[in-house]
Amino acid sequence: MISVSDLSYLGLCQIAFLFNKKAKIVTQAMMQGAKRHSELHQQAEFFTQDEIIEKTIKGERFVAREVSVADYEAGIRGRIDEMEFMGHNESKKNAVIIRDDKFSRSNFLGMNDMHRIQLTSYAFMTPRDPKFRDMVEVAGASIRFRKFNSPEHTEFKVSGRQLSLWAGDMPMLTALAGNILENREMPKPRSFAMMDSEWLPISKQTCASCKYNKVCSVGRKMLAK
Ligand code: SF4
Repeated sequence: MISVSDLSYLGLCQIAFLFNKKAKIVTQAMMQGAKRHSELHQQAEFFTQDEIIEKTIKGERFVAREVSVADYEAGIRGRIDEMEFMGHNESKKNAVIIRDDKFSRSNFLGMNDMHRIQLTSYAFMTPRDPKFRDMVEVAGASIRFRKFNSPEHTEFKVSGRQLSLWAGDMPMLTALAGNILENREMPKPRSFAMMDSEWLPISKQTCASCKYNKVCSVGRKMLAK
């Protein structure tokens, strides 16, 4: 099973996706982010998985944090930071908003393709997850950017309709990720642009800020040109 956080690297670079699987680099900001995630989880109301299922079936309105979802057929899994269930919609499904929290020290420039792949993966998996099958409909998703040591946040939203259009690329992305990991396909210096559903060549600028640049011969060659 591929995790959503690993898969999202395809929005940065196919080679970075492979490096991320082989050589996980944990930065101080990542550790601080994990701590803040856990604090938010502790502050939230806690529901067991059975309670979440029961509330979803009844069409209740509630917010759950750190919900695990998986699509065993596509071989992908992940944990959603926050799910806001808004009650039954016209098709008698519990409409849900998916939120992902990101923490940073710098200002937020907006949503990138890694974020889009992440949200699309969650929206793709949620209605396929065995506990939610035929019971939920994803009404939208967002990335909530938070600064360390500040209660303020900026939220970038995506509609459910847009997510279902992007979800059409998920089988191709998960199949490619599997092929790269099982050495059936060589990763290329390309990033997947979710907006236009196409692979773009990596720029010098991307390689210059890539944390795998020191170990990536393709990136080093590109910078030397
Ligand atoms: S250095 Fe460039 S080519 Fe290499 S993994 Fe990073 S972005 Fe991709």
